[in-house]
Amino acid sequence: MVSSLHTLGDLRRSGYRSKPVKQEVRDNLVRKLQAGEPLFPGIIGYDETVVPQLVNAILSRHNFILLGLRGQAKSRILRALVDLLDEQIPVVPGCEIHDDPLAPLCAACRARIAAEGDNLPITWLPREARFVEKLATPDVTIADMVGDIDPIKAAQAGLNLSDELTMHYGLLPRANRAIFAINELPDLAGKIQVGLFNILQEGDVQIKGYPIRLKLDVLMVFTANPEDYTARGKIITPLKDRIGSEIRTHYPVTRHNAVAITRQEAWTDRVGELAVEIPDYIREVVEEVAFQARADRKIDKRSGVSQRLPITTLELVVSNAERRALGAREKVVVPRVTDIYAALPSITGKFELEYEGELRGAEQVARDLIRSAVGSVFTGIFDGVDTRTVVEWFDLGGSLPLGDNTSADELITGTRGVQGLRDLAAHAGLKPGATAPAVASAIDFVLEGLYAQKKISRNDERGYTAAESAPRRPTRREEQALNEEIRIPSGKKKYYN
Ligand SMILES: [Zn+2]
Repeated sequence: MVSSLHTLGDLRRSGYRSKPVKQEVRDNLVRKLQAGEPLFPGIIGYDETVVPQLVNAILSRHNFILLGLRGQAKSRILRALVDLLDEQIPVVPGCEIHDDPLAPLCAACRARIAAEGDNLPITWLPREARFVEKLATPDVTIADMVGDIDPIKAAQAGLNLSDELTMHYGLLPRANRAIFAINELPDLAGKIQVGLFNILQEGDVQIKGYPIRLKLDVLMVFTANPEDYTARGKIITPLKDRIGSEIRTHYPVTRHNAVAITRQEAWTDRVGELAVEIPDYIREVVEEVAFQARADRKIDKRSGVSQRLPITTLELVVSNAERRALGAREKVVVPRVTDIYAALPSITGKFELEYEGELRGAEQVARDLIRSAVGSVFTGIFDGVDTRTVVEWFDLGGSLPLGDNTSADELITGTRGVQGLRDLAAHAGLKPGATAPAVASAIDFVLEGLYAQKKISRNDERGYTAAESAPRRPTRREEQALNEEIRIPSGKKKYYN
């Protein structure tokens, strides 16, 4: 609508009023809240925690900081703020600081308006162009942030160096009338933090050597690792004091939310002839690897375990299954638990090890995590299900030489002699008429589950075999006899240790 206005005169006659960025963001947020629109689409699991705090900060017109470990969608939230800006705003064409035609800051724009008056053309800046992002590093200078003299500009135009037109604007002036996001704030040198403090304090910047001050209009948002942020001496106190809200982010609280995030982010719908079907237990195990990693004392808690771990892992899991399906000329790609072990390259680089972990090695730590994750998911699904028939088959000397490259048909044929295995596989959630790759995946899940529970063992040469040096389990008959002896009145069996 407003973009049909082409000159300053048009703009004035339309009654258009510019507003400060924080007010603009607030107004649009209020409108969305009233309309019941979704606020941060694609941000999962923060509805009860982060989002309400974010809303309050914006309603309060605060500059704010998101405190959280890596891979907690901090940058994503900040980028989503763009949706709270007006679709477009009028600017003076060519102005590096996006001057408001109704209230220009820079000398050049003021001169143009004096000369051209209502005939000054205006352009409309889309909101996507109003987000400036900077990763803080120790080598960022005041010149990068605020600006300095551009001697080349001066020489070319034959201008005096103290003339405002010779200024080279830094990131902050270029973020005028926009959102300025600084990631990893504690990595900024103290001197630069003082500079930021002045801006938050005074609301304007002064560029070295120039007599002018620019009354910038910026919504400043930051991110930081909580431990860096609270460590003494990392952030100058007056700057901390000027940040209106500190908002803590977190990793997904439930496996359900984690699955939803990875489902949204991972590239698994491959463009090809093969359909990809990912069983639920695979999605759960992949998330559980991250949950286990975050709780593992061999892994450094201060740096965290990013949600990018399950996302990239699931992509590699699908790729390993895709590679097998292509080789075996199968029509459908169904990942298996063994494909998760093939996804180590996307796991080992996603965490920092503590000393104990370093002794064990990243690869072994990752294998342990997967095995433990499989155990957790398998135990959940197979709670109360009798797996003894299958375990006994191995205890009697059976072995299955299988690997992640074994085709679905080979795997099904090779395991046909194991009594009860197919029934257990059905319990993993196979649908009637499941394809061979889906059946093979379910069988693989059962075998890997038993391996994770240490009821059977697995090695590279012989595949799955009986558990090594496992204490002898009572046979079914022995256990039945025992149960009959101790049967309790309700009909429920009671087990004694
Ligand atoms: Zn200007």
